[in-house]
Amino acid sequence: MNYKELIKGIKKQVERPLRYCYFTIPDYIRYGESFQKQYNFLEESQWWTKEKQKEFQLEQLKNLINHAYSTVPYYKKLFDLHEINPRNFKSFDDIKKIPYLTKEIIKENFNDLISSEYRNKKLVEMSTGGSTGEPLILLADKNADKVKEWAYVSHLWSRVGYNVNGLNRRAILMGAKPVGNYYEYKNRNLIMSSYQLNEKNIPNYINHLVKFNPSFIHCYPSSILLIANYALANKMEINISKLKAILCVSENISDEQRVIISKAFKKPVYSFYGHSEHAAIAGECEKSNYYHLEPFYGYTEIITSDEQYASKEGEKGEIVSTSFLNFAMPLIRYKTKDIALLSNKVCCCGRNHQLISKIEGRAQEYFITKDNDKVMLTGSYKLLSSIQDKIYMGQFYQDTPGKVSLKVIPKIKLNDEELCNIIESFSSIYRNQLDLIIEEVEYIPRTKRGKFKFLIQKIEI
Ligand SMILES: [Zn+2]
Repeated sequence: MNYKELIKGIKKQVERPLRYCYFTIPDYIRYGESFQKQYNFLEESQWWTKEKQKEFQLEQLKNLINHAYSTVPYYKKLFDLHEINPRNFKSFDDIKKIPYLTKEIIKENFNDLISSEYRNKKLVEMSTGGSTGEPLILLADKNADKVKEWAYVSHLWSRVGYNVNGLNRRAILMGAKPVGNYYEYKNRNLIMSSYQLNEKNIPNYINHLVKFNPSFIHCYPSSILLIANYALANKMEINISKLKAILCVSENISDEQRVIISKAFKKPVYSFYGHSEHAAIAGECEKSNYYHLEPFYGYTEIITSDEQYASKEGEKGEIVSTSFLNFAMPLIRYKTKDIALLSNKVCCCGRNHQLISKIEGRAQEYFITKDNDKVMLTGSYKLLSSIQDKIYMGQFYQDTPGKVSLKVIPKIKLNDEELCNIIESFSSIYRNQLDLIIEEVEYIPRTKRGKFKFLIQKIEI
């Protein structure tokens, strides 16, 4: 054995126990000073008055606009073209002069969007999923982004018992690919594969969860929903004594899905709105059903279909965000294509954040009708739950307006009457604007990131 191999062997022997010890250190100490600073700031500033919040947010916005103009070629050109002088930027209204930033613009101007201050620094790629078309790649300052993001996430989770000063054993059911099997123990957490989750091995997943006894299950809603549906349909009790909450990420969650998960695990389901571009984050409140927009993560505008600001209670609009996290590749007025419902109420918890009553969906969560209208996929969740005893899984697919196919893995072969009933219920939900075809399949593949999607939407929206 040569010297290099010997070192490699020793490293392998000591790495695992060292990592295990390292992960017994609470987040607050392990992530160091910049995490502590950010976390403490969030804990304190969440109780600020509306005026104090707005004042600080405007300072952040001015700072970003100036930085973008002086160091980012794309914004220098854009501001000059539209005669925008960052020095005259005085109020939030001034942002309206800046044209929107879209995924297409980012792709076309990729290099010109990188700040000259960061050209020689080590940047990391952040890629967004995107079920239709090519995924979008962005660059960010590795350390700043990771630490700040984690401070925000753990701050939001603290609303359901996550303790940065303690140990938070998590069972993680997302896009990980455990080596050689569908689960592994890593960094004191139980990592389970969402790719391999299927109706045959769900009982094994439940056994591992119960045995591990985590404080939190950190998961894609679509994955935990498969387990919850299975447990309820088979009248299985899931008793995880230390479990505090189910932490859902990455996907929108409907009220129906929340009820199912909560019923199966007998614990609250906590979710926040966020996206891989890190331009906006809004966490659920522990005392109400509202989402609170975090004002110092980014500046968020909710734009209606006629290009106005949503202002009335429950008014719907697209989330357009300006990120305060990424100075390496600034995103100003970035169109997320996600839809939110605004609320003007004041939350009973005492925080003075802008509220969102509902995140209605992502662009890829709509069907397109015969009249080329967008209708929500969520309308059909009830239909899927109503046939839960007949099928293991179902997934919608659309590539033509007005036509939808539903791929199902049946438990027993569906007879003609059952098929007709499903088709009729679907038509009546969507007022005859969508025709359904049912296709029986043996397997439904997951996305590249291991998500189970309820709809594969091939029409560009
Ligand atoms: Zn609240």
